[in-house]
Amino acid sequence: MNKTLTRLFEQHQLNRQELTDLIIAALENPQPLFRLARETTARHYGDSVFIRGLIEFSNYCSRNCLYCGIQRANRSLDRYRLTEDEILDCCHQGAELGYNSYVLQSGEDGYYTDEILVRIIRRIKQQFPKAAIALSIGERDFSSYQQLYRAGASRFLLRHETANQHLYHRFHPQMSFTERQQCLLNLRKAGFNIGAGFLVGLPGQSLADLVDDLLFLKQLQPEMVGIGPFIAHPETPLGGYKNGSLEITLIMLAIARLLLPLSLIPATTAVTTLKSAGRSQALLAGANVVMPNLTPTAAKVKYELYKNKAGIADDSQQALNKIKDVILQAGLIPDLGRGDPVKKIINRESAKC
Ligand code: SAH
Repeated sequence: MNKTLTRLFEQHQLNRQELTDLIIAALENPQPLFRLARETTARHYGDSVFIRGLIEFSNYCSRNCLYCGIQRANRSLDRYRLTEDEILDCCHQGAELGYNSYVLQSGEDGYYTDEILVRIIRRIKQQFPKAAIALSIGERDFSSYQQLYRAGASRFLLRHETANQHLYHRFHPQMSFTERQQCLLNLRKAGFNIGAGFLVGLPGQSLADLVDDLLFLKQLQPEMVGIGPFIAHPETPLGGYKNGSLEITLIMLAIARLLLPLSLIPATTAVTTLKSAGRSQALLAGANVVMPNLTPTAAKVKYELYKNKAGIADDSQQALNKIKDVILQAGLIPDLGRGDPVKKIINRESAKC
């Protein structure tokens, strides 16, 4: 494994077979991989871990993604929408705590027209001009993405979920694999920094599928990469299946870091939900972003992608303090700045060739 790892560390690429062999070797002994991933993060971002405030503003969803607890077909879920003022209040609370970066996430909720979203984004930017706004609201058309970008949102998280077309169609009824990937390209064209990523441990997903997910990311070169374990939600058709593995998720995250050294990679809540030490393990395996929750408690408990979501009982202040402690205990530095991606410096001489 050492030769392959060194090559990955130095050249940031491997072929399909090499990636497969590396994953198998890392399942025996992941530490060398994790160390190099952490070293790579430090080389570009130092010891900073960027903290973004997550605002889950609606759990209404028109989709039926089989794994997801807020899917339309889940009738047992109490639905909510935050008002524009409530969303603004979350940002105010965040600003008081020191935040400069927000992630607005929701199901695909048709209530939020372009006009409403543009107004929300403009109001946030008026009151907090320096803050970065990321959206995670699913698929929309190009003109919608353009309007949201022009209003002042600059980042958009849209996981590709799986690079296996068959699995994608199995788990996303009435959705299109190519359409989702086209959305990522449209987002980039509209000007956004984009976040792609995938679920680990979906029923029927193979090692080869995970390798394809990594190769997809390498090719797309997103600024942000979200990788998390599948967690079975009892009120979904996948309720009876096994959760994804934390170990494999960490290995995927570390390899993603080495393939895309400049990317921003969160230690996801799903990782922490599987195991409380998961977050610090992810930070020591190449992750450099965390997203504590700013959603009001009454709403947050209903944003139930999966059960037993970590940190659900904490208020915004507690959530932030806990996360800061985890970061410090991992020997890293909490950073409440915007946490912009480091951009590749293009060598003008070589660019001419
Ligand atoms: N509607 C938005 C946001 C979706 S929720 C969108 O389509 O992008 C954010 C992410 O949570 C999803 O992309 C999915 O990868 C993840 N997720 C949903 N249900 C999950 C589950 N049961 N276990 C783990 N992750 C889940």
